[in-house]
Amino acid sequence: MESNERVQCLIIGSGPAGYTAAIYASRAGLKPVLYQGIQPGGQLTITTEVENYPGYPDGIQGPEMMVHFEKQAARMGADIRYGLATKVDFSGPVHKVQIDEEKWIEADSVIISTGASAKWLGLESEQRLNGYGVSACAVCDGFFFKGKEVAIVGAGDTAAEEALYLSKICAQVHMIVRRDEMRASKVMQDRVKNTANIKIYWNSETDEVLGDKKVSAVRIKNNKTGEKQEIPVSAFFVAIGHQPNSEIFKGWLDMDEAGYVKTVPGTSKTNIEGVFAAGDVQDKIYRQAVTAAGSGCMAALDAERYLSAKGIH
Ligand code: NDP
Repeated sequence: MESNERVQCLIIGSGPAGYTAAIYASRAGLKPVLYQGIQPGGQLTITTEVENYPGYPDGIQGPEMMVHFEKQAARMGADIRYGLATKVDFSGPVHKVQIDEEKWIEADSVIISTGASAKWLGLESEQRLNGYGVSACAVCDGFFFKGKEVAIVGAGDTAAEEALYLSKICAQVHMIVRRDEMRASKVMQDRVKNTANIKIYWNSETDEVLGDKKVSAVRIKNNKTGEKQEIPVSAFFVAIGHQPNSEIFKGWLDMDEAGYVKTVPGTSKTNIEGVFAAGDVQDKIYRQAVTAAGSGCMAALDAERYLSAKGIH
């Protein structure tokens, strides 16, 4: 394999974790090169208003915030490029990453911040109303539906946690569960079942999200009886899991069964020396912009220490 370029620090991904890593790595003089991936700015570019990122007292639109992240990283000197990491080779002391199935880059350190993608049901109406009442993040968007009736689909720990979160803000939470039991841990299930304003619809599938310009109702179908029912709601939250974007690292990095990259607790270190992971690709619990940014900072500091211990930097 022919390598065209050698860098000290290669950052893969351009969400809050990647750009924060780029800011810190640039200021530490590592001359990082960052590849943005197919969705520059990451998941925040498909959200609307962000009110929980500190430093924006009036809130900010997700896409605009990510432009700020990018500008700040660029101003510090990060070399930001459009391109997708398509393969890696972590077999040697110098790591190799292939970009756009063509060029190979050699890197003394690699920071993986490729994020995760929310899973969607796949309904046309869900896609059309995304950002107009359809959301995959209750913590981000629940507040906009204060005092309203909302629906949530899913039955894992995320759905349970988000339903409980919504129950504190919204008048009524309609929870759509496709089987006659929930996957969530017992304690979370009990909490959900014991919350007065959460109504569970068992054996139910989402047939359609209804609404012209914004969500007005959801139509569900009982998969035992075939009976359909319309529930008037202002928002529809999808909480059926996330998919970490870690496919190309399989076989190299230790991961859990869902594909989240494992890091040494309290650090960003993976099982391969000089390869660090930050943000949602290694975090299935918190998944917030601010926690991703914090872990991006950790990864840059870990990379800097690693390079300096190796005498490379
Ligand atoms: P999970 O994969 O655990 O659960 C996904 C849920 O969505 C399941 O109930 C599944 O139903 C349902 N689902 C999947 N596809 C569809 C569909 N097309 N239509 C309707 N329902 C669907 O994902 P989570 O994000 O909940 O959790 C991921 C991991 O993170 C888990 O290990 C979880 O324990 C962990 N976690 C831990 C937290 C904590 O400790 N505080 C908080 C959040 C997550 P079915 O059961 O029928 O397959």
